[in-house]
Amino acid sequence: MPGVDFAARLLYFSAMTDVVSRCEWGAAPPKLVETFNGPAPFVIIHHSYIPGECHSSSECIKAMQNMQKFHQNDRGWNDIGYSFGVGGDGNIYMGRGFSVIGAHAPRYNDKSVGICLIGDWREKLPPEKMLQAVQKLIQSGVEEGYIAKNYTLLGHRQVRDTECPGQKLFDEIKTWPHFSPHPSGPNDTYRPPS
Ligand SMILES: [Zn+2]
Repeated sequence: MPGVDFAARLLYFSAMTDVVSRCEWGAAPPKLVETFNGPAPFVIIHHSYIPGECHSSSECIKAMQNMQKFHQNDRGWNDIGYSFGVGGDGNIYMGRGFSVIGAHAPRYNDKSVGICLIGDWREKLPPEKMLQAVQKLIQSGVEEGYIAKNYTLLGHRQVRDTECPGQKLFDEIKTWPHFSPHPSGPNDTYRPPS
């Protein structure tokens, strides 16, 4: 289990970056917390698809709770799968947090930060404040040493067969710094179906 330093550092990060704490969104406790040594070399972008987009903080809190219930109860996972959620209210919601092994991208769960933009972004772009919140989260993560300075930004579909994070959002993140069309470099033999 991570110790006091781990928890204190995350609390500090949350305060600095205006992250909505698990307590604030009414998260159930994780069944188990397994950590990995950072900084994480990958940032992986998701959409929730379901639940759909949320506009108010009360809607986004409900969405976080529903995702956690689904992941813990139906999927049988330890916690909500993602490291963070970002809502249409422009807020960042603490999921598993940094340096905790996630359940969002096979083979990358112990070396990435998984950020879920709540909503279905196949045919429309998330609102600007949501996109800005994601970029702020990544930047703060780099500054605090949770994300490697030379991190690689990927969409979920690049590491497994899924339409996630939605075509519109995927087209958007392709324009962001650190996006790579090659998930793990030339030595990675995995090729997701195109
Ligand atoms: Zn995904």
